[in-house]
Amino acid sequence: MSEIFKTTATASPETNPLIAEIVRQQTAGAELLDPPGAIRREWMAAVFQHGETYLSQMLAGPAYGPAKPPPATTDPFISETTGDLQKALAYLRENVDHQGVNIAAGGNFSYIPGGGVFHAALGDYLAAITNRYAGVHFGGPGAAQLETDLLDWLAAELGFPKSTAGDLTSGGSIANLSAIIAAREAANIRSANIAKSVVYLTRQTHHCISKALRIAGLAECPRRYVEIDEHYRMQPERLADLIAADRSAGLRPCLVVASAGTTDTGAIDPLSDIADISAAENLWFHIDGAYGAIFALSDLVRPKLKGLSRADSLVVDPHKGLFLPFGSGVVLVKDGQKLYQAFQERGDYMQDVVDLEGAISPSDFSPELSKHFRGLRMWLPLKLAGVAPFRAALTEKYLLAQYFHQKLSENDRFEVGPQPDLSLVIYRYLPRRGDSNDFNRKLFEAIKDDGRIFVSSTAINGTVYLRLAILSFRSHLPDVEMALAVIPQIAGHLEDS
Ligand SMILES: *Cc1c(COP(=O)(O)O)cnc(C)c1O
Repeated sequence: MSEIFKTTATASPETNPLIAEIVRQQTAGAELLDPPGAIRREWMAAVFQHGETYLSQMLAGPAYGPAKPPPATTDPFISETTGDLQKALAYLRENVDHQGVNIAAGGNFSYIPGGGVFHAALGDYLAAITNRYAGVHFGGPGAAQLETDLLDWLAAELGFPKSTAGDLTSGGSIANLSAIIAAREAANIRSANIAKSVVYLTRQTHHCISKALRIAGLAECPRRYVEIDEHYRMQPERLADLIAADRSAGLRPCLVVASAGTTDTGAIDPLSDIADISAAENLWFHIDGAYGAIFALSDLVRPKLKGLSRADSLVVDPHKGLFLPFGSGVVLVKDGQKLYQAFQERGDYMQDVVDLEGAISPSDFSPELSKHFRGLRMWLPLKLAGVAPFRAALTEKYLLAQYFHQKLSENDRFEVGPQPDLSLVIYRYLPRRGDSNDFNRKLFEAIKDDGRIFVSSTAINGTVYLRLAILSFRSHLPDVEMALAVIPQIAGHLEDS
């Protein structure tokens, strides 16, 4: 092979028939990567039809589909030769599309439901077709600007000032990681002072914070789990006590992580009080609002999030409360310089990358360089639907949760958790006999097997609860009525059996 390439330098393919033939063969193969218009149209039609069929079946089908063993097939999983789109779609239909949680089904009330609005699929399609480079302004000025403008829009909605910078990430976990790293840099936590640099959180803080602390090299920071109240919210007086105790022990309080909507119960920590303490004590105040921060779009719910805009850093998950498909998180840092300082780097091979006037590139605020043009999947839904339907949907989910809480509270066979701060209710059945944890675990399984709705469970201080998290954009009153019918009915059957 190297002999052939040596020849290429001195002779054109025309003058070297061997090379000309080899190139022709390889080009014929490579050209299959660029299908012509007629094929593109045929494929688009087939993929669109697959999506339509999926949607109609999913809407009529169970909220949870059981795993099935892979069917016996002679088709190789991947081969060297051209494949057939219909066969590929059939594979998805059989093995992927209907197994596990139907995330965007109205009856999906598990974990924190994700979205999947149709508009976002079109955004993803356009992002993939154009593949504009959203990492640096120089490479894709329009793409980078669109993402910057989108972050500015979200920051303004959430009450953050113009100094804010952010990053469109793949999800909440990575967004939280970026915030923790920005906090580490801002608080100057180094190996020399790590054992003295204290982090405050609660037992209800999402586990991705613990993961982020480890990844960020902060596993050895002393961690204080602040006591929570009967609504599962951080107690600010206890936070203040812990900080005072740590200071008198010669430690260095650095970072407090509050939740705007915990995953277990949907509780909003008292953000204003925590902001006061953080300001007085000079702590970095991070809010994990992956689930709840977006409820600030709802006029009705916004007052409950008072103090949100006082955070130094905030995480929002558009693939939850903006109903986008998985792959969209956001981190915002109020002093944008701090995010820049945490992530800005340059390589020699980037010497042509000039900063456009006044514009800092998205990759300067991110651990990523080449990145998916994520902005399109968020911008297009907002553009096409307008913001009002998102506000309406969030207010609706909040009201549905209040309704579910009230109705289930009227059933004395159930113990129902606190009135929901957001759109999440915890509850458990109180069986007449036997262990209540065992019973509620069985109840979870039976609801899953029934399939009409899907809920998830949790254990808080050793007590098993079922959860109803209302955040699928397709969950409306009839779905909640269904849950109110199905859960007591299945519990009753289980108790009688
Ligand atoms: C979902 C969630 C996360 C994690 O976000 P991912 O997008 O799943 O990575 C973090 N915190 C809270 C409160 C969440 O609800």
